[in-house]
Amino acid sequence: MSLSHGRPYLAIPGPSVIPDVVLQAMHRASPNIYEGELHAVTQSLIPDLKSVAMTDHHVAIYIGNGHAAWEAALSNVIAPGDTVLVLATGRFGIGWGEMATGLGASVETIDHGAQSPIDLGRLEEHLNADKAGRIKAILAVHVDTSTSVKSDIAGVRAVLDRTGHNALLMADCIASLGCDRFEMDAWGVDVMVSACQKGLMTPAGISFVFFNDKADAAQPAKVSRYWDWRPRKDPAVYYQYFAGTAPTHHLYGLRAALDLVKSEGLDAVFARHAKIAQTVWAAIETWGTAGPMALNVADPAHRSHAVTSIAMGSAVGQQLRAWTEEKCGLTLGIGLGRDPEEAYFRIGHMGHVSGHMMMGALGAIDAGLKALNIPHGRGALEAASEVIASA
Ligand SMILES: *Cc1c(COP(=O)(O)O)cnc(C)c1O
Repeated sequence: MSLSHGRPYLAIPGPSVIPDVVLQAMHRASPNIYEGELHAVTQSLIPDLKSVAMTDHHVAIYIGNGHAAWEAALSNVIAPGDTVLVLATGRFGIGWGEMATGLGASVETIDHGAQSPIDLGRLEEHLNADKAGRIKAILAVHVDTSTSVKSDIAGVRAVLDRTGHNALLMADCIASLGCDRFEMDAWGVDVMVSACQKGLMTPAGISFVFFNDKADAAQPAKVSRYWDWRPRKDPAVYYQYFAGTAPTHHLYGLRAALDLVKSEGLDAVFARHAKIAQTVWAAIETWGTAGPMALNVADPAHRSHAVTSIAMGSAVGQQLRAWTEEKCGLTLGIGLGRDPEEAYFRIGHMGHVSGHMMMGALGAIDAGLKALNIPHGRGALEAASEVIASA
């Protein structure tokens, strides 16, 4: 017997749940791309994107996923032979570094493993050792989605200032934008990359590079014509926003998504994500009191509010994922980048996620643990409901 008929729930760390108003905004005939409403919609996105990123600087919009934003950002900063320092806290930091290598950069990596945030002391030592100032940019992932580790990006800026190092600070906020508090200008971030399919609740397909004048001034002499952020930040003609045809329907979808963020209020959005994350943690901690389940990140201060990585100790993580999907219509995230992947799973709780949705997801997991005879502590739903009640 399957209880999966009904609305499916994709609780993975991106793509996230798409709100009905976003889907409805996209369900339309192709709009005029030469003039009119689409131009006004695009113009209206710019200030709202900047306010979500908490920046007064520039934003370039690209047609592509997060990997496209990675390459776009690097292409505007790095020339072959330049040195970058990657602060890896999981698979995504490593991946961004691999892309820099592919573009001809010389990549140094401080690898923090899969459970720990950026170590500011190690960073300070590394920068102090770079007397010649070879490092042109630091690549830091705010929330690494593979591990659910959150790092202190303002702290990275403080180390740069303390050591007097001039490297650009580049942050990946693909998983955190609109979920975990991030303040681009106040935290001294020079370049930030993000995408629309996680906290911004729009189908994958557009991504963003935010950058300040310091980063713009550091642009190498030769930049890929397609990735160049300059025509996109101040386009003389509309097509330059996108270097070709506009991603018409995505723009309407993103407009509706940003309206949701605006009407809830960014602080309320962050507070909701924090509460939902605490609900998830309370359940997992209770399940873990008897049995193999454990939160990947020990210190709550270093845990993402958008995604939670859970260790299961053996391949039962994969069995649980299969069970919740087949029997309850709940799809959980794979243990991406972990060894072995089957021993981990992730719950995405980014974007359009309410208290009842998360209680439902946790209920499906609780049922799966029982059905599969995976040892677990009792009372997880009770603990989760106490957190929701305290809101
Ligand atoms: C999802 C994600 C990416 C990759 O984005 P894609 O759209 O899948 O290319 C990169 N970094 C982080 C932190 C992410 O969460």
